[in-house]
Amino acid sequence: MNTTREIRRHFASDNYGGICPEAWAALAEANSGHAVSYGEDAWTAQAADLIRDVFEMACEVFFVFNGTAANSLSIASLGHSYHSILCHEIAHVETDECGAPEFFSNGMKVLLMPGSNGKLDPCAIERMVDKRADIHYPKPRAVSVTQATEVGTVYSVEELKSIWAKTKQCGLKLHMDGARFANAVASLGVKPKEITWQTGVDVLCLGGTKNGMHVSEAVVFFNRELAAEFDYRCKQAGQLYSKMRFMAAPWVGMLKDGAWLRHAAHANAMAELLETELAQLPEARILFPRQANSLFVELPPSVIEGLHKAGWRFYTFIGQGGCRFMCAWDIREEDVRALVADIKRLIG
Ligand SMILES: *Cc1c(COP(=O)(O)O)cnc(C)c1O
Repeated sequence: MNTTREIRRHFASDNYGGICPEAWAALAEANSGHAVSYGEDAWTAQAADLIRDVFEMACEVFFVFNGTAANSLSIASLGHSYHSILCHEIAHVETDECGAPEFFSNGMKVLLMPGSNGKLDPCAIERMVDKRADIHYPKPRAVSVTQATEVGTVYSVEELKSIWAKTKQCGLKLHMDGARFANAVASLGVKPKEITWQTGVDVLCLGGTKNGMHVSEAVVFFNRELAAEFDYRCKQAGQLYSKMRFMAAPWVGMLKDGAWLRHAAHANAMAELLETELAQLPEARILFPRQANSLFVELPPSVIEGLHKAGWRFYTFIGQGGCRFMCAWDIREEDVRALVADIKRLIG
């Protein structure tokens, strides 16, 4: 029986993807007997240790259910209610978290900045901070960067260093939304430390779900002082999972032999294949440099309509518009080729 069409993969989001074998196996392995609850178990300890190994640093690690919780609680831990956090105008914390960062910080204001290719411009940070210094303005406290960005680009080590230089100069903390951090590491071919604490990142939200897990993001504090009482923040926000071993074990499966980077590299390669194919079509205009696992393309409206009619799912409202084709860890070459074939057929 040919089940290819029945189990067709989509390009809407990497959270359409399934659970990868390594996470699944670890989950099954953790499902034996009893374990101490609320994160006091051996799986949770091992997962946190593996994250410390990955970053080559004695960071503080907390596991929460999703990225919205990771971002909002970590941002809240950076300051007080009268502070502000600077981010890109299309940052997930601004556009896709329903005000959770403001809510969990009791009112911290998110200040928005433009920037090409979804990236923050270090000079814009300085301008935003220098704009006002009086008591009537929400006091700038931190900068948030997304790595990889919402439009599938990646900050280089040099770009992060320039942002760090500005945050240092302005006395700001640095937060990183790493829902697709694995894709950025795989794309740059750097060590995880080179784009985090070695470029001044105080706290990272490390994505697990989009990387192939069933649930969980890790909040990783390189600046350990900021982690004080973070466990209480998690508990109060409903983010302390009582059967924590089932959130932690998949992290062990992902990290112990590098599956997290293999899956990310594969997803990146699938987006690259799509880019190579579409770059040959004059009707398809690629909107941003493809550096991670997504490709943004402008296509004729009739082609978009035809793709939707053919059953393909993808978003057209993310960032600054265009069709976003996102490759999950389990997108196969045949899925990319099937999509390309339909695009070519519709262009005619
Ligand atoms: C998906 C995503 C998140 C997390 O979203 P949740 O649905 O809350 O898990 C955070 N940041 C970015 C950039 C994302 O793409």
